[in-house]
Amino acid sequence: MRILILGGTGEAIALAEALSQRRHRVTTALAGRTSAPHKPHGELRTGGFGGASGLADFLRKGKFEYLVDATHPFAAQISANAVEAAKATEVPLLRIDRPAWTEPEKAGWVHVASEAEAAEALPGSATVLLTIGRQHLEPFLARSDCRFILRCIEAPDIDLPANVSLRVARPPFDRQSELALMRQHNVSHLVTKNAGGAQTEAKIHAAFFLKVKVIMIDRPALPEAETVTNVAEAVAVFDQLPAPSRLFGFLP
Ligand code: NAP
Repeated sequence: MRILILGGTGEAIALAEALSQRRHRVTTALAGRTSAPHKPHGELRTGGFGGASGLADFLRKGKFEYLVDATHPFAAQISANAVEAAKATEVPLLRIDRPAWTEPEKAGWVHVASEAEAAEALPGSATVLLTIGRQHLEPFLARSDCRFILRCIEAPDIDLPANVSLRVARPPFDRQSELALMRQHNVSHLVTKNAGGAQTEAKIHAAFFLKVKVIMIDRPALPEAETVTNVAEAVAVFDQLPAPSRLFGFLP
């Protein structure tokens, strides 16, 4: 089966490998934000499609039979485009949506809907571990009254002011190293997106343990789609599909 995976996550990489091993013809699409992304099994296509209609054209021209949205939970635009393109082309769509982290009892998370709201929620003189990636930093850079430890996979391509120290690091992160980092910098606040998943969850436990205040950017709402929560469930969907009818064309 010809499958297009919208990627940019560990799930997309793992799914491309599992489906390639099952002899599906897999293409993974990446937005092209990271300079040295992990190379997935199968074919790779980099760059935007030009909206939902561009994605629909790509599905038609490539004769794709299935579309998988394995993008990050905060990549709301491409997920909406996937729903629209799937409808327009009648190509079935499956979304992998890893569960969000749940708030430990009495953790007192401050829930916000955007980076701007998160920056506004910080008190003056806060020391902040900022783990939102390297985009949408502007509202935090305007808070010259706070100190930031900005952790991201790749350095942002802007000059950072003196109150922001950069740590370039790639997940997974474990509890011990998260505790050490928060203690070393005397962190008072953690600002994070509710990305979910095990790779970056340790910061949540470390913050709870050290009573570091969590400002949680909640997930954007996505249009409805058939959804599974992990790669194994996604693979099971493909394993359960009936064999292509053309292989059984000789049957009555
Ligand atoms: P977005 O806001 O939902 O998408 C913006 C535009 O980027 C889309 O309209 C599309 O352009 C293009 N695009 C996004 N993902 C694509 C993909 N997998 N393949 C081809 N084009 C794609 O996305 P974003 O939040 O900027 O994230 C970009 C990518 O980074 C996503 O693939 C996501 O999985 C990954 N990522 C995002 C985050 C995050 O926090 N947002 C974190 C980790 C990884 P066209 O309209 O031109 O098709």
